[in-house]
Amino acid sequence: MVQADPENQIYTDRMALFKKIETITQVPWYYFAAMDNYERNTLPSTEEEKVISIQFDETEWFGLGNAAKSTEQDIIKQFGGIGKDGNDDNQADSNDPEDILYTMANHILSYGLQEDDIKIAIWEHYKRDLTVQTIMNTAKVFQKFGDIHLTDRAFPLDTNYNYSYRSTWGDRRGFGGLRIHEGTDIFASYGVPVRSTTYGVVEMMGWNLYGGWRIGIRDIYNIYHYYAHMSGFDEEIKVGQVVQPGDILGSVGSTGYGPPGTSGKFPPHLHYGMYKDNGYSEFSFDPYPFISKWERMEKNNN
Ligand SMILES: [Zn+2]
Repeated sequence: MVQADPENQIYTDRMALFKKIETITQVPWYYFAAMDNYERNTLPSTEEEKVISIQFDETEWFGLGNAAKSTEQDIIKQFGGIGKDGNDDNQADSNDPEDILYTMANHILSYGLQEDDIKIAIWEHYKRDLTVQTIMNTAKVFQKFGDIHLTDRAFPLDTNYNYSYRSTWGDRRGFGGLRIHEGTDIFASYGVPVRSTTYGVVEMMGWNLYGGWRIGIRDIYNIYHYYAHMSGFDEEIKVGQVVQPGDILGSVGSTGYGPPGTSGKFPPHLHYGMYKDNGYSEFSFDPYPFISKWERMEKNNN
């Protein structure tokens, strides 16, 4: 007997809503799916999970001067609000998942359906470049996999090789002035494959004074993954590319602490950092508990 798993059910419910609103409005489902995902991941994990987390501020929804917060679509419109009734119950309810998605789809439609139009529509709603970038990346991932429930993870190195690491986040570093170590160092031999830990989009790659050859991937949970000191990149990897857990990014090296090409100033290792965007700012947090969990997950699967 198959029982509905409540944790999976919410993804099924969400996807059904996204597809329904896409059918009505022709706005591709993965854009509002990505906006919804972005907003959910800015909330504290203690907050109860809603089916749809997209929020409008009251003035935007009800209009300026609609003091009684009338949910009648015509009255909202008279006050210049954008709240709409997406499920024909004659209420434009800012807490109703279908009304929220339908309103967002219409907001997007008012700018157009070219990728640049959609970017502007998202910017007009959030007014923050990093938010727009994260949402566009997430939309690309959702589109590619045709799914919003993407929970696989991988350890940053191929676990068939020898490596060692311990928690070193927050340690003091001397090079380039006093800094805090924003990551975990995983020591391994030159050439050991470095892999994406997550679903995401390659946001940046190239040389950096401290990081050497380094690559940055923004995932679908508002987290930026930073891989540094690599000997080089896999030739398939390009900025803007969608990756999934286990995809090879390059290999372990000892590059950095000097001009492009500098290598060998320290033992070969992968520096792996994680940065969370909470909707206001980005901050480093300790990757150690996460990579040790992903390592266990991989070992249990083999
Ligand atoms: Zn490091």
